[in-house]
Amino acid sequence: MPAKSPRGCADEHDAPGRTLGCQEDEMGQVVMDRGAGNVTGSGPGANGHAATKIRSYAPATGELLGEVKVTSADEVKRAVERARRAQEAWGALPVEERCERVLRFRDAIVDRADEIVDLLVRECGKPRHEALLHEVMVAADLATFFAKAAPRVLAPHEVKLHMFKHRRSFIHYKPRGVVAVISPWNYPFQLPLRDAIIALLAGNAVVIKPSEVTPLIAQKAKEVWDSAGLPEDLLQIVPGYGPTGAALIEAQPDFVILTGSVATGRRVAAACGERLIPCVMELGGKAPLIACADADVERTARAIVFGGFSNAGQVCVSVERVYAHREVHDKLVDRVVELTKELRQGDPSAEFVDVGAIIFPHQIDVAEKHIADAVQKGAAVRAGGKRREGPGQFFEPTVIDGCNHQMTVMTEEIFGPIVPFMRVSTEEEALRLANDSHLGLNAYVFSRDRDHATRLAERVEAGSVLVNDVLTNGGTPDTPFGGIKASGFGRAMGEEGLREMCNIKHVSVERVGMGSKDPLWYPYTAQSYGWFRKGLRALFSGGGLLQRIGEIL
Ligand code: NAD
Repeated sequence: MPAKSPRGCADEHDAPGRTLGCQEDEMGQVVMDRGAGNVTGSGPGANGHAATKIRSYAPATGELLGEVKVTSADEVKRAVERARRAQEAWGALPVEERCERVLRFRDAIVDRADEIVDLLVRECGKPRHEALLHEVMVAADLATFFAKAAPRVLAPHEVKLHMFKHRRSFIHYKPRGVVAVISPWNYPFQLPLRDAIIALLAGNAVVIKPSEVTPLIAQKAKEVWDSAGLPEDLLQIVPGYGPTGAALIEAQPDFVILTGSVATGRRVAAACGERLIPCVMELGGKAPLIACADADVERTARAIVFGGFSNAGQVCVSVERVYAHREVHDKLVDRVVELTKELRQGDPSAEFVDVGAIIFPHQIDVAEKHIADAVQKGAAVRAGGKRREGPGQFFEPTVIDGCNHQMTVMTEEIFGPIVPFMRVSTEEEALRLANDSHLGLNAYVFSRDRDHATRLAERVEAGSVLVNDVLTNGGTPDTPFGGIKASGFGRAMGEEGLREMCNIKHVSVERVGMGSKDPLWYPYTAQSYGWFRKGLRALFSGGGLLQRIGEIL
């Protein structure tokens, strides 16, 4: 039986042998640690108590950054009740008014960008550029984009009925009510805010259950919201571990959006299913990159290095496996190895570095296991390959060559700085292997022939496929984002993502008066049946117009 994970659930995150970072503090309260050798905990701690606080440590230095109180199930319930009350007034506002207020939040984010970036750098150990570009800028852009798009996308519109010409149908997008946002630690600012901003613009109230691994940045986001003079109960956060997320679903919100692992996705979707709460699941990825025979080696190599090591590989759309055509394989691997060895890794709060720390230390164990399995089955480590000694949680950017689908590194999510290569003889072989996965979030195709690459992209099984580029669709709010297969269902972002946050309501109105009796209503008579029977053939059989008129006569 797998060991109980520090988050209180046996899942893909399980790390047998790890100890719970659980202890009693000076006040006799149970505290769960994370980082600096300790790991997060959830639910009952080692001594049987429930955790009451989360301590946050800087992954790059081990420094204690602060602690946050865990929200109890009762408090979660009350937060949802307050949100429900706040939503009534918010949902009744014209959408333009909601957009204007959300832009105030955007302005506050931009005004306080430096302090947000500083905290992201310290709590996540991510490079300053990534904190600014991939978190703050993405959130600001998304708010701007959707504030502009919402009045058009959410406007009621008429659907022309093909048959019932005597009636007019209108589609309305109504707020769902209270939206629960459950989020992970890899982009702890932009991911929960992405879902929150879209939900708010659609007229909902939002309760965020942030990751227990990065509790401080969620608090900062809430502080910025409140400082913008926006209704406090409209956007709330309920810090805590997995059980707090479970309590949030038990509090019966009207919609749930989870971004997290496949294992958590199964649990959350089941809990939503039991309560018939509609939900979106944004789960794990195993993005393949197909390097065609005519791929531009320099661009492809640089894309692989950026796509594999950005955020230290802790990205759901990371380049997780490369299928390189034998024409380019050797040159590509050599160049990727060269570029990887040039990367500067270290504490991003002290200097400008390319690659930062591992946010959640368990990912280091996962990386080591993948590498040991691959090497034991014949792969060669060409760059990196090990954890860095000394303070902080670092794993070297790693390139592995000679991989195949017998190795877990090619088939299971890594979520760390490892890029495995497999040589293929044809693009068809690459396509077959790319599609040989239980996951289907993002994928990449590199070729100098754009049309050819596009045709190949259309055959890859994934929610998004980028040609000659990596990662950017995480920052294009214009397009729907989400997975197929075990990567989840539903979409964040794009018009589809905005409408996901709405109940779709159809209002049907008569165009002309039909008198007191409708031909479709009672009584059913032999004569009316005969007419409808003739109508069936007239309306739906092949043949020309004259033949069909003949059927009626
Ligand atoms: P996780 O599944 O461990 O946790 C995600 C969130 O779910 C956390 O807030 C956690 O506390 C909460 N949770 C755990 N158990 C719960 C339960 N029973 N009920 C309710 N909530 C519960 O994931 P993680 O380790 O934080 O994040 C990494 C995973 O997220 C990776 O698999 C990654 O691919 C995925 N991810 C996906 C996307 C995407 O958009 N598809 C984006 C980022 C990360």
